[in-house]
Amino acid sequence: MVYIFIDNYSTIKKETIMKYRLLMTITLITLISFIVGCGSTEDHDTMHKDERIEKSESDIVRDYDVDVASLDENGDGNVFQCPMDWEVISDEPGSCPLCNMALKEYSVTNAKRNLEEHRPHNH
Ligand SMILES: [Zn+2]
Repeated sequence: MVYIFIDNYSTIKKETIMKYRLLMTITLITLISFIVGCGSTEDHDTMHKDERIEKSESDIVRDYDVDVASLDENGDGNVFQCPMDWEVISDEPGSCPLCNMALKEYSVTNAKRNLEEHRPHNH
């Protein structure tokens, strides 16, 4: 009677331990693949985002010798310029790719004058 009880008990204990170990292994694998999956997805998104910003925003950084009138693509006489970075000019409202400030609307004449007044001096 006592022997049978002990035998049953040890069998149950073994099964429980094996089930627990299996569960732990599955949990660990799931956790690792989740972390790895998240990490790679995040990296991919960040890369994609950076690429998009580079393509859409850095092309409004102009040269100080740029012809401002030619940047007024819709011909309304106004362009958007960054008050911190005068060489950042766009025909559409947006934010400056250099300082993230909102672009301010200036007439083509004023934008041109801003560029000339703030042009880096050549000594
Ligand atoms: Zn700026």
